[in-house]
Amino acid sequence: MLKILKFPDPVLRIACKSWTFDSHQSVIDAEKIEKDMIDAMFAFDGIGLAAPQVGIDYRVFVMGHKDFPESAQAFFNPMVVSTTEDIDDLEEGCLSFPGIFVNIKRPKKIKARWQNSKGEWQEDEFDGYNCKCFLHELDHLEGIVFQDRVSSLKWAMAVKKSKRRK
Ligand SMILES: [Zn+2]
Repeated sequence: MLKILKFPDPVLRIACKSWTFDSHQSVIDAEKIEKDMIDAMFAFDGIGLAAPQVGIDYRVFVMGHKDFPESAQAFFNPMVVSTTEDIDDLEEGCLSFPGIFVNIKRPKKIKARWQNSKGEWQEDEFDGYNCKCFLHELDHLEGIVFQDRVSSLKWAMAVKKSKRRK
């Protein structure tokens, strides 16, 4: 099982490299990474997991829900094509920050492109929690964590609340 790195592990601050599908070997690796990352995401009850969170410095993340395991998938070299101006302010958590939940403003809807584990380009629209999750994981690939997206006061309150829950 892959190990989840916790903040402030320095790997979480790395800007990840693009994944290159230029050989048969890299497709095999891509399918293995997809499977291993989905297994780890489900084991830790996550709905998203980015490669740097498991110590891999490539542009890939996985998303999915344990109740619908067949819908879980990896997104290689993901990018946002367009966003709406409407903003959602929904609660986020992160496997690298156990127990901390905080509301973060992000676009309500996006259109995104990525490669699947076979290297085929895909395009789709995301809204609600899927949109939020996509943008949260995309941030990880740039070395950005959700703490960076809120004021220090709001963050301090979220940390305090997480300690009360324990
Ligand atoms: Zn995260």
